[in-house]
Amino acid sequence: MAETPGRPGAATGKLLFDVSVPGRRATAFPACDVPESPLPSADLLRDDLRLPELSEGEVVRYFTHLSSLNYSIESGMYPLGSCTMKYNPKRNEDVARMPGFAWAHPLTPAASAQGALQVLFDLQQCLVNITGMAGAGLAPMAGAHGELAGVLMIRAYHDARGDTGRRKILVPDSAHGTNPATAAMAGYAVVSIRSDVHGNCDMEHLRSELRPDVAGMMLTQPNTLGLFDTQIEAIAAALHQHGALLYGDGANMNALLGRTKPGAMGFDVMHLNLHKTFSTPHGGGGPGAGPVVAAPHLLEYLPAPIVEHREGSLHFAVPANSIGPMSGFAGNFGVLLRAYAYIRTLGADGLREVADNAVLNANYVRSQLTDVYALKHDRPCMHEVVLNGTRQKAKGVNTLAIAKRLIDYGFHPPTIYFPLIVEEALMIEPTETESRETLDAFIAAMRAIAEETEHDPEVMLSAPHYAPVGKLDEATAARRPYLRWRPEPADAPVADG
Ligand SMILES: *Cc1c(COP(=O)(O)O)cnc(C)c1O
Repeated sequence: MAETPGRPGAATGKLLFDVSVPGRRATAFPACDVPESPLPSADLLRDDLRLPELSEGEVVRYFTHLSSLNYSIESGMYPLGSCTMKYNPKRNEDVARMPGFAWAHPLTPAASAQGALQVLFDLQQCLVNITGMAGAGLAPMAGAHGELAGVLMIRAYHDARGDTGRRKILVPDSAHGTNPATAAMAGYAVVSIRSDVHGNCDMEHLRSELRPDVAGMMLTQPNTLGLFDTQIEAIAAALHQHGALLYGDGANMNALLGRTKPGAMGFDVMHLNLHKTFSTPHGGGGPGAGPVVAAPHLLEYLPAPIVEHREGSLHFAVPANSIGPMSGFAGNFGVLLRAYAYIRTLGADGLREVADNAVLNANYVRSQLTDVYALKHDRPCMHEVVLNGTRQKAKGVNTLAIAKRLIDYGFHPPTIYFPLIVEEALMIEPTETESRETLDAFIAAMRAIAEETEHDPEVMLSAPHYAPVGKLDEATAARRPYLRWRPEPADAPVADG
């Protein structure tokens, strides 16, 4: 493992305890000029608590250095397919921090919070317009959370009609893992539907599984192969003919904004990831927002609360047969604010440009790499492209090694080994916010890596060489995480975490 190049005076590569000097302090207190009073009990003092001793400057440098070891969207391109890790305008952060919004208490009476309710009401309308649906509920706090709300709405719809024999949800084999997990959490059995040779839904398989016990299908459009399924209207019609509903996974809407609307394709209910498409930086587990939008026949089941106009002012309301609340209060208000600011600053034309550039960038990357990396479904993609490392694997270098080597070239790796139906998958989503120069640098790195596979496989198999840590034992890292600094050697028994 190579050392990180050091800066003079920085605590580079060392643990906090290594730079500790006994007796060194951040603060020197003046001599006590009041009578001393004894501490309550000697039992409260721990002699065994070893703490590093440093000056304030050393502590600040240490943590500043640690923060610079993290890769982030602020430090470089993040081509993580299906995650839409784009750069988000900082002005939307300012909007979310405006004191009138940031300090609004969730229990403020509606009469005193009309401004905040107006934002929520307008955002509901924006999402309805963007998706071509009839109504929106903003309460779910993540994509998977929105999925659960949507599938519970499908269940409520069937139940309300006395149609209680529907026990299955269909999920394509290319789907994001949250889809089958959601269907199972909502009490359904999951039936996997094959993809055909073009990367679309296999219509024959779909029709053969469409029995009276099917409640619905969860579909991602464009799908997780980055491909637009041109059979979408036929899929929706087939489901509806059998009394089943079509759920849309709209986590990544970048490709569709302003170009087409899921409502027009026949979707009955879907969720959106505001933290992917609509300007909340994400990663590390949150915060997020996964609003659901629904067609007219599902509006009464939307999660509570929704914001409504009544007698000249805005109010929180519970839809007639709501599946109930999905979160405390009205959802992740700060995330909703960012999405609102993003949508209103871009406007309809700006959103369409987002989609155009997201698709253009992904196809540019595709066009520049398919002579060196294999492509299972050779057709224009939408906002992401799924290449694969099968040619490199045949030479003894797997996709994991390609991903790790990319770190040495200064890029975050793309999503790998997903979707599951593409062997050695490399799922690249450049997003609309990267410049031509950045895309070219990424392409050059991917090409250099393909070249190394031919001539220097050893350097690849042991990568990364220039990262703060080398190749990790990921299974042990996940099973025995070190969640806090400790003075013991790193292999000491884990006391917490
Ligand atoms: C990210 C993603 C999800 C899940 O969203 P979370 O906010 O992480 O729960 C679901 N489906 C697709 C296609 C996604 O990319």
